[in-house]
Amino acid sequence: MAERSGNGTAPLVRIFGRPGSATAYAIRDYLHRSDVPFEWVQLVTDEQARSQAGVDQLQDSRLPVCIFADGTRIECPTIRQITEKLGWFRNPSRSEYDLAIYGAGPAGLSAAVYGASEGLKTVLIERSAIGGQAGTSSKIENYLGFPDGISGAELAERAREQACRFGAEILLAREGVRGEFSAGKGTGYLADGTKIVARSAICATGVEYRRLGLPNEEEYFGAGVYYGAGASEAKLVKGAHVLVVGGGNSAGQATLHFAPLAKRVSLVIRGESLKSTLSQYLVDRVFAAPNVEVITRTDVAKLGGETFLQEVTLKHRDTGQESKINTHWLFVCIGGDPHTKWAEEVGIVRDDAGYLVTGPDLLHAGQRPANWPLDRDPYYLETSVPGMFAAGDVRHGSVKRCASAVGEGAMAVAFVHRYLANG
Ligand SMILES: Cc1cc2nc3c(=O)[nH]c(=O)nc-3n(C[C@H](O)[C@H](O)[C@H](O)COP(=O)(O)OP(=O)(O)OC[C@H]3O[C@@H](n4cnc5c(N)ncnc54)[C@H](O)[C@@H]3O)c2cc1C
Repeated sequence: MAERSGNGTAPLVRIFGRPGSATAYAIRDYLHRSDVPFEWVQLVTDEQARSQAGVDQLQDSRLPVCIFADGTRIECPTIRQITEKLGWFRNPSRSEYDLAIYGAGPAGLSAAVYGASEGLKTVLIERSAIGGQAGTSSKIENYLGFPDGISGAELAERAREQACRFGAEILLAREGVRGEFSAGKGTGYLADGTKIVARSAICATGVEYRRLGLPNEEEYFGAGVYYGAGASEAKLVKGAHVLVVGGGNSAGQATLHFAPLAKRVSLVIRGESLKSTLSQYLVDRVFAAPNVEVITRTDVAKLGGETFLQEVTLKHRDTGQESKINTHWLFVCIGGDPHTKWAEEVGIVRDDAGYLVTGPDLLHAGQRPANWPLDRDPYYLETSVPGMFAAGDVRHGSVKRCASAVGEGAMAVAFVHRYLANG
């Protein structure tokens, strides 16, 4: 079976792998979010593995194999190797920047566009693909200026191009893991040992998808269980029964994206109805789709299957009654949590859920946070460390929308200027 992604453009990469391969999923997801056309060739017999991928058998550890348009072959590649092959992996060009931005979702990309266009030496660090959560959306319909909607991957790619055109440096496949701050300077340490020194920083690291909390869940990640809308997988669900968990807009979008190809889509929600959690335009479309059912007051109780997901057990919240569904496709869209442990380690104030607290929210009865060293209040969007700002979903009290993340990215840059000028 071969499936193409990328609007009919000739594939830049062909991926050969076995069904349920988590590594192959990670590669498809990365390429899809990066708007790179690829072809996925699913191998199901030893003979196919030999003749098409040039390995000994289907269980060969060299799978998945990626073949690039120039003939380069990489066996079982990491995301970093793919980034390198695409020519996107780079080292920082400066020993010091005016602004370092962590996270290239809508907030980080917007901050990069505004920072670089306003003359700041700007670096944007992203641990995976550009676009963040938005990059996984099949169609964003409420973002200003796109009346017919735009795919998250395309929106992100446009923003990347814009940021680069203004001179922002983008470091992909690099994860910020630790920070150190001293007066007028911050140092970010990346997972690969690289150090980024900057006079100011914006944390735009968004949220991590929330897990269901089932004991064997990680086993199936990328092998039947997917987090977010799984835009890269949509073409593969042809004729299948797909389960989507969650009552928010991302779950609604995912459901509608799968419905035209799937045999049936079951949207599983904990509440009584979708009305209070889903935008009305999505509610209307979900109920109009003939092959979509909404299963209310229900949780996912168990996952089963040998090498990949084969069975999902649902449990009704009121009756306790269980039912089993045979499926290879479970998409979990139940929101996310910020991963800001690093901030706690350096004393940046977070709320109980881990979101970064900024600006006026840091003041208690007019008092500035303990250890705040300056004779002024924190600027709006500034964290409890001067010169370190937060924008988008990672920020306490943020709105969790593309447009607001983009707006906060732009606003944070305005405060960065103020900080660099006046301290
Ligand atoms: C499927 C889906 C559909 C959606 N549809 C819509 C919609 O139609 N309309 C709408 O308005 N909103 C929509 N949203 C919500 C919207 O996408 C988010 O509110 C928005 O993406 C938040 O942007 P952000 O930049 O703050 O964070 P994110 O988008 O979460 O981006 C954060 C980025 O930071 C990176 N990162 C995290 N930690 C590190 C680190 N340590 N080092 C380096 N990089 C790091 C992540 O990899 C990620 O790329 C949708 C969300 C989802 C999941």
